[in-house]
Amino acid sequence: MPQVAFIGLGKMGHGMAGRYLDAGFTVAVWNRSKAKAEDLIARGARWATSPAGAATGADAVVTMVADDEASRRVWLGNDGAATGMKAGALAIECSTVSHAHALEMSQGLTKRGLIYIDCPVTGLPQAAAAGKLTLLVGADPADLEKARPFLLPLGTTIRHFGAVGTGTVFKLINNLMGAVQIASLAEGVAIAEQAGLDMNLVAEALSTGAVASPQVVRHSTRMVARDFSGATFTAALRHKDAAYAVRLAETLLPGVPVSRSALAAYDRAKAHAPDGDEGQMIEIVSRPKR
Ligand code: NAP
Repeated sequence: MPQVAFIGLGKMGHGMAGRYLDAGFTVAVWNRSKAKAEDLIARGARWATSPAGAATGADAVVTMVADDEASRRVWLGNDGAATGMKAGALAIECSTVSHAHALEMSQGLTKRGLIYIDCPVTGLPQAAAAGKLTLLVGADPADLEKARPFLLPLGTTIRHFGAVGTGTVFKLINNLMGAVQIASLAEGVAIAEQAGLDMNLVAEALSTGAVASPQVVRHSTRMVARDFSGATFTAALRHKDAAYAVRLAETLLPGVPVSRSALAAYDRAKAHAPDGDEGQMIEIVSRPKR
């Protein structure tokens, strides 16, 4: 059976690691805090005390951690996965990282004889646990073929954008546009509230009309009700993605005022409730100004 090491067992990674157990892979896991691994261990995963320990003997190492800093630590830290991996093994980065970081990891890991692909994903934690993610791949075509058996348990759709880094470029513009839509929705909802409209009707009309993107459908009723229970994607993570995307834009298309406004809005939302749902943006927009 193929051996996989899974590193990062947060809301997304926990379900993704479980998919490998369901598919019969031999699975080793590591997470900064062990508690999140307990049920996976009970299901047959091997607990490792470091990323390097998890990576030892693995055919593929898959990471799903918060950001660039966490990714650098789990790949290239003193006890990072790279120190335990065998030559020719696959390094599959599913975390949403910056474009520069993906290229830097690719360079660092390739020098050690490893195969790096960037493979950020779209889909919520429920989709992760059900193996229904969309995988956004940047890889040499031959490397993607080697990685494919390790991607199939995770998703229903694999989109290959080109060389290493391109999956991340797409993921960042996708999430930047999400930030713009959610920030704009919050302003629309707040204006309608100030005008005294029937807000249930507004939510229904927004989520069935011409602006009803999946983000608008997902957030309009919750914003109107101020119901943010069961946060799946936090303001801090949305801010991180928008910041990485605007940094990338600076190298390609300086300006992007709409994107910068959304980033500034998420600066405020993150300060307000970093671990709160990204939709809590409405609480910033509708807060009375002093
Ligand atoms: P999460 O629940 O906050 O999990 C974050 C993970 O990163 C945890 O395993 C955490 O360890 C680990 N981590 C954070 N800082 C670390 C550090 N310095 N060193 C080592 N490990 C560290 O986040 P998530 O929602 O699963 O998101 C994970 C990634 O998927 C992010 O890149 C996110 O942008 C992306 N993503 C999320 C969604 C979504 O809907 N949630 C969808 C698509 C993509 P601890 O458990 O010890 O804190």
